[in-house]
Amino acid sequence: MLAERFASRALPSLDGHCYYTETAHERPLLQPLQGSATADACVVGGGIAGLSAALALARSGVQVTLLEARRIADGASGRNGGQALPDFACGIEALERRLGDDAALRAWELSQQALRLLRQRIDEYGIDCDWRLGALSLAPTARQARRLRRAMQHRRTRYGAQRLQWLDGPELGAYVHSDRYAGGMLDPDAGHLHPLNYTLGLARAARAAGVRMHEHSAVHAIRRTDKGHALDIAGARLDCRLLLLAAGAVPGAPLPRLRKRVLPVATFMLATEPLPEPVLPQAHAACDTQFIPDYFRATPDGRLLFGGGALLAPGMPWNGGRLRERLRRAMLRVFPQLGDIRVTHHWGGWIDASANRAPDLGHLGPSAVYLQGFSGHGLALAGLAGELAAQALLGGPGRCADFELFARLRHASLPTQGLLRIPVGAAGSLWGRLLHTL
Ligand SMILES: Cc1cc2nc3c(=O)[nH]c(=O)nc-3n(C[C@H](O)[C@H](O)[C@H](O)COP(=O)(O)OP(=O)(O)OC[C@H]3O[C@@H](n4cnc5c(N)ncnc54)[C@H](O)[C@@H]3O)c2cc1C
Repeated sequence: MLAERFASRALPSLDGHCYYTETAHERPLLQPLQGSATADACVVGGGIAGLSAALALARSGVQVTLLEARRIADGASGRNGGQALPDFACGIEALERRLGDDAALRAWELSQQALRLLRQRIDEYGIDCDWRLGALSLAPTARQARRLRRAMQHRRTRYGAQRLQWLDGPELGAYVHSDRYAGGMLDPDAGHLHPLNYTLGLARAARAAGVRMHEHSAVHAIRRTDKGHALDIAGARLDCRLLLLAAGAVPGAPLPRLRKRVLPVATFMLATEPLPEPVLPQAHAACDTQFIPDYFRATPDGRLLFGGGALLAPGMPWNGGRLRERLRRAMLRVFPQLGDIRVTHHWGGWIDASANRAPDLGHLGPSAVYLQGFSGHGLALAGLAGELAAQALLGGPGRCADFELFARLRHASLPTQGLLRIPVGAAGSLWGRLLHTL
């Protein structure tokens, strides 16, 4: 069943000049896998999802090998907006419609648990990643503000999220020095961090728990064997009993038939030089309610990190300079006072967007599971999903109720091949239409 070969489809590297790479803590080089090896369990993918799963498996006494195609945290996990938020990219309302009220209530609790797990790991493993509490959702128009406020009331009444707080007028001005927003919702329990240092901290914890890790070890093919699975890696082979795929949106991401269910979507970020005056005086993270959101936060050294704007489908060339200027203009729409401020860094990353923007977790037979489709909302959630996937793998299909809750969600295939031939803007609007129709 698993005998599939990864199609090689290159996504452009969006590495650019990344602020996080420049401010990363120790990042040891891990040798590629060579020759033949065996493991009880193999995890494919060295992002938050894979590392979290590997850590959980190792803590349960399983001997784990993790294989990463590039370097640990080189995918979305090490280059994202750093906003650790509850809820889901699709919004809890979508899960109410798809799963029913009781399961949606559990999903909401799990999204809160994802945040707690992230904080617990920072504390337990002493991960130095600039964690700060406080996140804002901001509505640029009065209509979006009314919708956001209704969504907040819904979360307060149905899910007991009493600490969510509405802000507008001067109250909002105390959090964001911008005239762009008609209103905002404050979540004092969400927060933000340095995602690369967080992910590297998880990797350090997993290695300390006994996980063997290999970088530059892209898995090219997976076959079923009598005893489990055989994985082909350039010049090497790994045999394992249990298999967990957590390969995000980058090339070779899990199996071709799974990959059809996520559309790689590019999003970009910039960093400014340190600002003379803060534009976010409380140093909270912020994300707006546009379909393709702007998101921003301050760093401890007083820079603004600003992301959003661009969408790009696989195979399309990206013009770093043009996108950087477009993103700078988006930043100036929010903070016109930054006109003279220099942009010092610019980079991008690939999001694994599922058609319904709900996470896509599931089984591939009795001894393999996969997780993908965090749709730009996985910083906290992918960590919890990794834990649940580890439990599902150890218990077998049907044994981890929380994993099965997500595995029940239906996911459509996306026409990613067609997107190779259409221009950037059109890809964005096509994605928009897909999300509204599927
Ligand atoms: C620019 C940007 C901003 C974002 N901002 C936020 C945010 O503010 N808040 C939020 O919640 N989420 C955000 N996200 C999304 C979040 O980063 C992801 O949801 C999360 O990191 C997903 O983790 P992952 O482990 O599933 O994937 P990844 O981190 O992408 O890890 C997958 C890994 O698998 C490896 N891999 C792939 N194929 C193979 C193979 N064949 N063999 C071996 N290894 C393979 C890849 O190299 C990669 O390292 C953002 C994403 C981007 C790109």
